[in-house]
Amino acid sequence: MKGIAASPGIGIGRVYILGEEPLVIDKTPIEPKNLEAELKLLEDSIKKSEDQLYKLMVNVKQKLGKDQAAIFEAHLMMLQDNAFLDEIRAKISHELASATFAVDQVVHKYSAQFLKIEDEYLRERATDLEDIGKRLTKNLLRLETRSLNELDGEFVVIAKDLSPSDTAQVNKDMVKAIAIDLGGRTSHTAIMSRSLEIPAVVGLEKISGVAQTGDIAIVDGNTGVVILNPDEITLKRYQESQEAYLENISELRQLKGEPCITRCGSRKVELTANIGSPADCAGALENGAEGIGLYRTEFLYMQRDNLPIEEEQFLAYKEVAKTMNPHPVIIRTLDIGGDKKLPYLNMPEEMNPFLGYRAIRLCLDRPEIFKTQLRAILRASAFGKIRIMYPMISGTEELRQANAILNEAKLELDEEQVSFDRNVEVGIMIEIPSAAMISDILIQEIDFFSIGTNDLVQYTLAADRMNERISYLYNPLHPAVLRLIKNVIDASHRAGKWTGMCGEMAGDSQLAPVLLGLGLDEFSMSAVSIPWVKKVIRSLSYEQAKALADKALTIENPEEIKALLKTVLEN
Ligand code: PEP
Ligand code: MG
Repeated sequence: MKGIAASPGIGIGRVYILGEEPLVIDKTPIEPKNLEAELKLLEDSIKKSEDQLYKLMVNVKQKLGKDQAAIFEAHLMMLQDNAFLDEIRAKISHELASATFAVDQVVHKYSAQFLKIEDEYLRERATDLEDIGKRLTKNLLRLETRSLNELDGEFVVIAKDLSPSDTAQVNKDMVKAIAIDLGGRTSHTAIMSRSLEIPAVVGLEKISGVAQTGDIAIVDGNTGVVILNPDEITLKRYQESQEAYLENISELRQLKGEPCITRCGSRKVELTANIGSPADCAGALENGAEGIGLYRTEFLYMQRDNLPIEEEQFLAYKEVAKTMNPHPVIIRTLDIGGDKKLPYLNMPEEMNPFLGYRAIRLCLDRPEIFKTQLRAILRASAFGKIRIMYPMISGTEELRQANAILNEAKLELDEEQVSFDRNVEVGIMIEIPSAAMISDILIQEIDFFSIGTNDLVQYTLAADRMNERISYLYNPLHPAVLRLIKNVIDASHRAGKWTGMCGEMAGDSQLAPVLLGLGLDEFSMSAVSIPWVKKVIRSLSYEQAKALADKALTIENPEEIKALLKTVLEN
């Protein structure tokens, strides 16, 4: 079965179907004389749920960090929300509903409202609400919650969906992989399984109905493939790949402290990590990142219903700056819009959101939002080596306007006698072909470029990065893309400056030789990819990579370039 590869690695084991224990909802009205007892039952269940969630939060904070624990903090807050609880209490008192029925009704009312929201992230919050409802009901029914850390043996956990609380309790020694029907890239299961480094495939649609407890399953988190009850030969093949993968990882981890230098030492490049929150810094350092090449700040603005105030942003940016110090941290200013909407900003519905009101366009239109963020970043720059990066710049005018607002923010801080790094470097993302074409002009006004290939490829080839049907067109090795990349790197070097890359292309170890040869200075990627890219770069000489890049630029067919890269990597 094919799903979405959510967390890398290969896991093999006996299937454990995490079934839903039937929760019996009693729809018959209660006797008026039992009203007090029913209300007491509800209060006891709320208290017990609170205790469980609090323990879970503390546990997860220790194991996975503050950010992952925030989910349970949010659960706790929902559970302490009086409007929500009063509605349940009222159903019992006024309608004589049983406590289980009252919880069921109120939870479904709210989760149905979440499910109507277009934003994928917020829609998934309905799962959180249902998670709370289940917890309350289980406690009302006095059912013991069997948690995933009590499994005995080695398992592949298969389920329709895994709630955040299920995933957080996964014991890594027992759970070899996760495969679930639902979920996308932004689901908490995907995010958490990556943090836990457990191979996972999500979005399999119906695996929980097909697999049975006791089956053998292979979960390939690298390709998104799950095989049930494999034959001997397949099993052996995957066991070998699994061993090779694990061996590679442990061997690669030994490179952690080594610099990323080419074989004969003639070129050194920086390998940095892409992060979405301060908690991701731990994984970055563990994998040997020499800094943060992309901090996607928009996550700070999501999962909530108002803008984060300056102080809150400052604390997050400062934490990253301090944790990574003396390594540099590139903070990308708000890149909202496209597929990332903020419902509380009341953004207009658009025909082509990826070509619409997003990122720097929105920030220049709402300078108060932009300046608040810039002030927070500047303040944090006093605590480490911070660089500022604007997304989606298409031409000089936008860049100048953005810099003008940055200057205003600096002047304000000066007046307030607040310290910040006066030499803070400013760069832009190159993700629009127009910016790549005029990179020689743009570089005059800034310190560095970072190429965002995720968008650059889609805009150059007019191929939506999210549309499966035309994914065959979405190819970073297309000659037009390679020429744009070369143009950008060369323009920066001629100006005595540098170019990084923070799109997914930078983390693809197979493509590293050509990027190295084109002269890329910094490769920024998800932390787990760093050791793989490092290994490839250390195995090549710069001359070899340059010759390869020169050759690749003369080839018109991306498949031929791929074949060429393969021969280089095999030799
Ligand atoms: C990119 O476009 O390559 C990029 C890194 O930005 P995002 O994926 O956040 O759009
Ligand atoms: Mg982008």
